[in-house]
Amino acid sequence: MTSRLEQLEQIVGAPVIDQLRRMADRLKPLSLAHVNSTRIGGGVAELLNGIIPLWNELGIDTRWEVIEGDQAFFEVTKAMHNALQGFRTIIGKPMLDHYIEVNRRNAERLDFDVDFVVVNDPQPAYLIEFMRKQAKKWIWRCHIDASKPDRHVWRFLREAVKQYDGSIFSMPGFSRNLPHPQYLLYPSIDPLSDKNRELSAQEVSAVMDRLRIKRDKPIILQVSRFDSFKDPVGVIEAFRMVHAHTPCRLVLAGGEATDDPEGPRIFAQVQEAAHGEPDITLLLLHPESHYEVNALQRAADIIVQKSVREGFGLTVTEAMWKGKPVIGGAAGGIVLQLRNFRTGFLVSSPEGCALRIRYLLRHPEVGQRMGKFAKEFVRDYLLVTRNLRDYLALMLLLRGAGDDGKGLPGRTVVL
Ligand code: UDP
Repeated sequence: MTSRLEQLEQIVGAPVIDQLRRMADRLKPLSLAHVNSTRIGGGVAELLNGIIPLWNELGIDTRWEVIEGDQAFFEVTKAMHNALQGFRTIIGKPMLDHYIEVNRRNAERLDFDVDFVVVNDPQPAYLIEFMRKQAKKWIWRCHIDASKPDRHVWRFLREAVKQYDGSIFSMPGFSRNLPHPQYLLYPSIDPLSDKNRELSAQEVSAVMDRLRIKRDKPIILQVSRFDSFKDPVGVIEAFRMVHAHTPCRLVLAGGEATDDPEGPRIFAQVQEAAHGEPDITLLLLHPESHYEVNALQRAADIIVQKSVREGFGLTVTEAMWKGKPVIGGAAGGIVLQLRNFRTGFLVSSPEGCALRIRYLLRHPEVGQRMGKFAKEFVRDYLLVTRNLRDYLALMLLLRGAGDDGKGLPGRTVVL
């Protein structure tokens, strides 16, 4: 059986894989742990699923640890997530104490006798407070748009983050005032996963039949957790404007992530907004329905990701990889991924979204052309191999630095 790296070579070319092997060889022996708060659901889990096996294939001993928490913990961390993305939220001291306590309990359970720990997002950020000495270097990887955070929440989180040796953000604008080097790394997708691998037309049709979605009209799709920042209600508003004059269907597919307790409330709002419209299909998918999401994205004519705040938005990259034109909210990392007017359109309102949907429905050949550019853009910049290369470069850089991290270049380094 061919290894994943060998399979990737068919997609990105031998020089890319050779470079990864050479960089990894310079780092060996090296051990690494990635930590986050869920194994399924959401972009971080998606990313880690793609990248962890590759680290190990490159000979770097890598583990993936997931912190455990109760309902109250995930309520706090979701509130923190919202606050960091600029949403006014009050998080009381007892809630923050509980958050720290859950991190402390996880620290007792975990063991990080490794060279590098990469801690993803705010949920496990306070582990460092209790485990600093165990690993040689600690990196905080922030996947959310923290450009205009609630000041109180950021001040609280910063107490932990400032103890790290470095932090990574998805956009230059997200970087914060921190006493350590900050790096820029774009998230990526795994072209070999069930979510992104090639599917035959029959496979796509079988999934659409199973999900009972007719293909008699063009399909507009948004895939995302039911989260207000993803603006599913705004997508329905846009769809209703278009649908009044042009036949089409809307599919909103979302699932739950174990670390996001807000889903059911937002889903109820979406159901209300979609009420009485038979051409809107709402799908509540199991978080591991990667194959179904893949088929939906391939069956769609236009893919929308109308987020009003977004860390990066892997769904945009996934859609581009499938050669689809994307209409994305002009927010966060979506702005980096979408070349406005070339691989899709950036929009800032339901009206703008409706205008672009209507245009693409009227000019399907433009959508196809955009999709071709989009796929090549992803091949060049947004696949897991590029992410891995950036991580390897970062680790070479950090390992070369003194233990105190001094002498590292810049504040924000573009890798
Ligand atoms: N996703 C999924 N099923 C769903 C909703 C989302 O598999 O019902 C996946 C989606 O395909 C993507 C990830 O979850 O891989 C979401 O990542 P993104 O960065 O777009 O958003 P996040 O949820 O991390 O804010």
